[in-house]
Amino acid sequence: MENIAIIGSGAAGYTAAIYTARANLEPILVSGQLPGGQLTQTTDVENYPGFADGILGFDLMDAMRRQAERFNCRTLSSVVKSVSFPETGPRVLHLDDGSDIEARAVIVCTGATPRWLGLDSEEKLKNKGVSSCATCDGAFFRDVPICVIGGGDSAMEEAIFLTKFASRVTIVHRRDQFRASKIMVDRAMNNDKIEVCWNSVPVKCLDVDAGKVTGLVVRNVEDNTQKTIDCGAIFVAIGHIPNTAAFKDCLDMDDNGYIITQNDSTYTNRPGVFAAGDCADHVYRQAITAAGTGCRAAIDAERWLETQD
Ligand code: NAP
Repeated sequence: MENIAIIGSGAAGYTAAIYTARANLEPILVSGQLPGGQLTQTTDVENYPGFADGILGFDLMDAMRRQAERFNCRTLSSVVKSVSFPETGPRVLHLDDGSDIEARAVIVCTGATPRWLGLDSEEKLKNKGVSSCATCDGAFFRDVPICVIGGGDSAMEEAIFLTKFASRVTIVHRRDQFRASKIMVDRAMNNDKIEVCWNSVPVKCLDVDAGKVTGLVVRNVEDNTQKTIDCGAIFVAIGHIPNTAAFKDCLDMDDNGYIITQNDSTYTNRPGVFAAGDCADHVYRQAITAAGTGCRAAIDAERWLETQD
C-alpha cells in the first residue's frame, strides 16, 4: 500500500509531491487529464515569485515535475475515474486503465477548468489576446480597449482589475442584470473606464487571420442585431468548473462543486483525505496560492499519518 497518493499534476499537486517526497513518504502522483494543469495552457507567467524575467507556464510546470521526481516522487499518466474513501482502511483510487491504487492518505489537487464560450475563433485566439485570467495576462494589454464577458463577481473583478491597464473596458453580458454581488457591481459601475454592453452574446472573436485580437462581434439577443466592439483583448469570465466529479459521492462540496475543507486546513470530511489548489478554492485561483495550499496539504497529511498506527 502507498503512503500517499496525490491526484493532479498542477502547482498544488507537484508542491504536495515535493513536500511529501522530501518527508520520505514516497508519494505517487496521478497526473490526470491535463498533465501540468492549467499553467501549461498559458504562455508567460510573470507573477510567480522567483522568476524576475517571467517564465513560460509549461517550463514552470516541467521544473516542478523534475523537482518532485528528483526526490523520487513517481508520476503515473492516468486519470482517476472514481474513488473509495472509507472512514478507516485504505483509500482506493480507481484508474481509467482498470487498475487501482491503495493509499493510506490521499491529497486531491484536481484543479478547475475555466468555462469557455465554445466559439471556434475563441479557441484559435487563446493566448493571442483571448484569456480567462486577468491577473495572469492583463498587464500584456496596456492602453488598448478590452472586452470582458460575463455578469458574475469574476467578470466585475476582472473588469475592475483590467482598468489599470486598458484604455476602456466593455463588459459584455447576456442579460440586462448582473448576477454579481451589489458591492462588486457598484464598484464596477462607478469606474469611469467601464461600460456595459447589455443583452449581448459574443458571436466571433476577431481576427483569426491576423493571429491577434482586434475586436469582438456581439449579437443583441433582443433585436438580433450584430455589432463589432473594437478591442485588443478579450477576457472570458463566465465561471470555472472544478474537476471534482469523481468525488461527488464522498467529499463535501459547495453548490458549485468546490471541495469544502475544514476549519482553515486542508482536511476534507473524510479522514486521511486532503484537498488543495483550485478544486477547493473559487476565490484566489492563482498558481502561487495553489502551490501554497499544496504545501499545507502535504504537512497536514504527514502529521495525520504520524497519528495513525
Ligand atoms: P458565476 O457567478 O457563475 O457567473 C458566471 C457569469 O457568466 C454569469 O453572469 C452568467 O450569466 C455568465 N455566463 C455563463 N455562461 C455563459 C455563456 N455561455 N455565455 C455568456 N455568459 C455566460 O461565476 P463567477 O463570476 O466566476 O463566480 C463564481 C463564484 O465565485 C461565485 O460564487 C462568486 O460569488 C465567487 N467569486 C467571488 C469573488 C469575490 O467575492 N471577490 C470574485 C470572483 C468570484 P447569467 O448571469 O446570465 O447566468
